Amino acid sequence: MRILFIGVGEACDENYPNTSILLMAPNDNGHDKTLLLDCGFSAVHAFWKYVSDPELLDLVWISHFHGDHFMGLPLLFLRMWEMGRNKPLVIVGQRGLKDVVERAMELAYPGFMNRFRFELTFYEVEPGEEKSICGFRWNFAETEHSRCNLSVAIETPHGKVFYSGDGKPTNESATLASGATLMIHEAFHVMPKVPGHGTVSGVISIAKDFEIENIALVHVQRDVRRWKQLQIRKMLDKSGINAWLPQPGDTLEFD
Ligand SMILES: [Zn+2]
Ligand SMILES: [Zn+2]
Repeated sequence: MRILFIGVGEACDENYPNTSILLMAPNDNGHDKTLLLDCGFSAVHAFWKYVSDPELLDLVWISHFHGDHFMGLPLLFLRMWEMGRNKPLVIVGQRGLKDVVERAMELAYPGFMNRFRFELTFYEVEPGEEKSICGFRWNFAETEHSRCNLSVAIETPHGKVFYSGDGKPTNESATLASGATLMIHEAFHVMPKVPGHGTVSGVISIAKDFEIENIALVHVQRDVRRWKQLQIRKMLDKSGINAWLPQPGDTLEFD
């Protein structure tokens, strides 16, 4: 499977597009699928730098309803329509997803949804449940954030990918990440005790406690990234685990 970091930024970062990850993997039936994890304001423009086929994407996961995680959807859909997409698209997220996405689309481009030639299928999921969607096994757990945020674990034949969305890890989300081939986690700050967000030190200790092979830190606060990047890289190097602070456009591959 292949992971492409389209964006790794937080909401207000002028240099880094909002955190958004493209996951390309075969599903349980051996069919190659492409999944987008979150689609914020600035992620959608970055997405089209890497993707030229309007039908490449099979599914979009939305972790929560903050703009830097879902407000790119209207423009994503609009451009898919403009480029002639016919293939259905699956959208997965927490309860209320369909209503929120349809309202956002109607505010951004009134009436356009009626013109789409592709079908949108929504799956609204609950923390703690297990689902089979698009030929993958999915599990969900809530993190501690200012809005309800679901972290997600997606099992593929090539390994398990965990993505935190936003939020401080909880017992449930750390357990969900257990044994992951790759944990992609937000690390808004460096040290512990930041309400509602993950930290570099917190993510490293979870990776050690829950036997996670590889970690990638995203959604780093813009001033922290600017002034403490060296400190973060030293912490990751010293951690003894495979750890990345990816840049937009970076890819990771696992067999
Ligand atoms: Zn965010
Ligand atoms: Zn958020």
